[in-house]
Amino acid sequence: MQLIPLIADNWKMDGGVAFGVVPKSIWSRLHTADENNCISITTRCLLIVHNQRKILIDVGLGDKQSQKYYSVRFRQTGINIINSLEQAGFSPNDITDVLFTHLHDDHVGAATRFNQNGEIECVFPNAQYWVSQSQWDWAINPNKRESAAYFKENLIPLLESGRLHLLNEGEQPFENFTLRLYNGHTRGQIIPLIQTKQFTLVYMGDFIPTKYNIPIPFIPAVDIEPLVSLLEKEQFLKEAADNKFVLFFEHDTENECCTVAQSEKGVVAEQSFKLNEIESL
Ligand SMILES: [Zn+2]
Repeated sequence: MQLIPLIADNWKMDGGVAFGVVPKSIWSRLHTADENNCISITTRCLLIVHNQRKILIDVGLGDKQSQKYYSVRFRQTGINIINSLEQAGFSPNDITDVLFTHLHDDHVGAATRFNQNGEIECVFPNAQYWVSQSQWDWAINPNKRESAAYFKENLIPLLESGRLHLLNEGEQPFENFTLRLYNGHTRGQIIPLIQTKQFTLVYMGDFIPTKYNIPIPFIPAVDIEPLVSLLEKEQFLKEAADNKFVLFFEHDTENECCTVAQSEKGVVAEQSFKLNEIESL
């Protein structure tokens, strides 16, 4: 099994959004904010090459939106999932499966693009698309709080491709993966646990988006049900400490992975590392 991290976007997010009820006087000790109160974040996708399948988890913002949309996110130009795939020696045609943790714009936008005729086309022509049924239902008929993150043009072409699969709790279409559903950030977010020979890697998505979100109260302001997030996090972190899970962060610019451990203060992050620093998978 090969696990290949791929950067889809480097961008910025308001620090208050990232850390919710935690005051800036506390979070700014861990994470520096710029003059706009923004912190640097990334979107780190993961390609899993295993038994004839090339499974990509999440894809980034894409290029279909307005200049203003990208400028308010302070997105760095020239970095996108296609370039990152090609630098790793793959093309979009190689991808057999795209697994979306959920359908917020920064996770799904780059799966489609405008072609030369101005029509929307799928970027991964040979891929099967996977998302949870509950997230699809939630996204296609969005509430007013999340509607700014769900765009029909990101979703309908996937449905019309005839290659979209909607998963219910407990369905496991990938060998060596366990897909779990979490509901605090949004309905039916898929968090994949990937079993390698040595360890269990957890793709954290927006569940615990960065290492700085590990302390229990550090729940992003955008989570739809923060108390659900809190319970999900407590349970998960205990399990992660007991089983030495490798947490792989989608949005942490500095920290690709870390493990966690029990301490007097509860579960805390141990030293961070990159996947390629682990000797063999
Ligand atoms: Zn999200």
